Amino acid sequence: MIYQRSSQLFAEAEKVIPGGVNSPVRAFKYVGGTPIFVKSAKGAYLFDEDSNRLIDYINSWGPMILGHAYEPVVNAVVEKAKLGTSFGMPTEIETKIAELAVSMVPNIDKIRFVNSGTEACMSAIRLARGFTGRDKIIKFAGCYHGHSDSFLIQAGSGAITFGSPNSPGVTQGTAKDTLLANYNDIQNIKELLEANKNEIAAIIIEPVAGNMGCIPPKEGFLESLRELCTANGTLLIFDEVMTGFRLAKGGAQELYNIKADIVCFGKVIGGGLPVGAFAARNEIMNYLAPLGPVYQAGTLSGNPLAMAAGLAMLTELNHDTEIFKRLEQKTAYLEVGIRKVLTLNNIDFTINRVGSMISVHFDKDEVYDFNTSKNGDNQRFKDFFHGLVKEGVYIAPSAYETWFITDALTYEDLDFTIEAIDRVSKTLS
Ligand SMILES: *Cc1c(COP(=O)(O)O)cnc(C)c1O
Repeated sequence: MIYQRSSQLFAEAEKVIPGGVNSPVRAFKYVGGTPIFVKSAKGAYLFDEDSNRLIDYINSWGPMILGHAYEPVVNAVVEKAKLGTSFGMPTEIETKIAELAVSMVPNIDKIRFVNSGTEACMSAIRLARGFTGRDKIIKFAGCYHGHSDSFLIQAGSGAITFGSPNSPGVTQGTAKDTLLANYNDIQNIKELLEANKNEIAAIIIEPVAGNMGCIPPKEGFLESLRELCTANGTLLIFDEVMTGFRLAKGGAQELYNIKADIVCFGKVIGGGLPVGAFAARNEIMNYLAPLGPVYQAGTLSGNPLAMAAGLAMLTELNHDTEIFKRLEQKTAYLEVGIRKVLTLNNIDFTINRVGSMISVHFDKDEVYDFNTSKNGDNQRFKDFFHGLVKEGVYIAPSAYETWFITDALTYEDLDFTIEAIDRVSKTLS
C-alpha cells in the first residue's frame, strides 16, 4: 500500500496543528510511522487519501456501531441542516431523543445532553458533589473519563500511550480530591471508603473498562461496589460512554443488572456527531440548573444536527431487536478465529471480550487491571499493527485500546481479517 498523500498531508498538518492532530492517539506515537488520512468511509470500510481500502475496527472509537455513512443517520442530518443548525432555543427533537433514551436505559428519569463524553463525565461529578455535599471522588487506574482535570490521574489509553498519566496543568488542589483505586479490587475500595468516611461524593467507573484494552469486571465486583456505595452515601457513576447503547439497549446497567446513580454517555448516542449526555433519577437530576443549584450549560448542547443523528441512531438500535445479539455473534466469531491463528503460530496472547468490545494483549497472563494491562509485548503490538495495515485491516494504533465491532462487518470481512492476522502472525518474531 502507498501512503504518499497521507504523509504529505500530515507534514502540512504538523505546521499548523500541534502534532498534526486534534486528538493525541491519532498521531501514531505509540506505534511509530505517520497517521493515515481518511478521505471517506462507507459501512465497514475506510478509504484513505491514497485510495487504499481498510477494514475499520475503531469506527470513530465506537460511534459507528452500524457502519460509516449509515443512511438513516446521514439523511436525518441532511434534512435537519436545511432548517438551521443551532438556535440557542429549545427544539422538539431534544425531547424526542430524551424520551427514547429514558425508555431504553434502566433506572433513569431525566437526561441532559452535552457535546462530548468529557463534558458528560465532568458534569456528572460536579452534580454528584453538589448532591452529596462532599468533595472527593474515587476513580480506577487505567479508566478514562475524558480529559477534564479531575480525571487526568492515571487515565488510560491516550495518557498511558504518552507516558504522562499525570498531566502538567492539573493542580495539586484538584488532584488531591481524586483518589485512585485498582480495577477489580474490592478490598481496595473498602479501605479507601473506610479511610475517608463521609467524604467520598462518588465512585466513577467504566463498568467494562475499555481504555486499558478491554477488561471485564470480575464476577460480583460491580455488585459489591453498588452495595458499598449505598452503605456509604456515595453515588455510583457508570461511565457508559463506551458501553452505552453498545453492550445492550440499556448498556452495562442492563447487561449486569446493576443500578448506577448517574450514567454518562457519549460515542454511540451521537451517531457520529459530537454528543454526550448524563442521566439519573429525578431526585438527582433536579439538582441541576435551572431547577437546582448545580450549574451546567452549553451554547451548542442539544443542537438539532447532533440530536437528529443521535435520534436516528437510537431509533435504529431500539427497533432492531437482534442487533446486540448479532454484534455479539460477529465479535465472538472474530475472537474464535484470532485465538485459533495466534495459537497455531505460537504467539502468547490474552483476548478479553465483552459483547462487541474486544482486545488482544500480547501476554499470556490474565489481564484484569491497569498493572496487568501493561505487561503486553509492545514491540510485538507495533509489528502486528503495521502488518495489519499492510493487509488492509485497521485496528487502534495503541495496545491500550479496545477494538469496536460494527454491524456493517460481514462474515467475509471477518474471515479476511482472521486470514490477515494469520499471515501477520507468521512474521512476528
Ligand atoms: C471516549 C471516552 C470518554 C470521553 O469522551 P469524549 O467524547 O472523547 O470526550 C469518556 N469516558 C469513556 C469511557 C470513553 O471511552
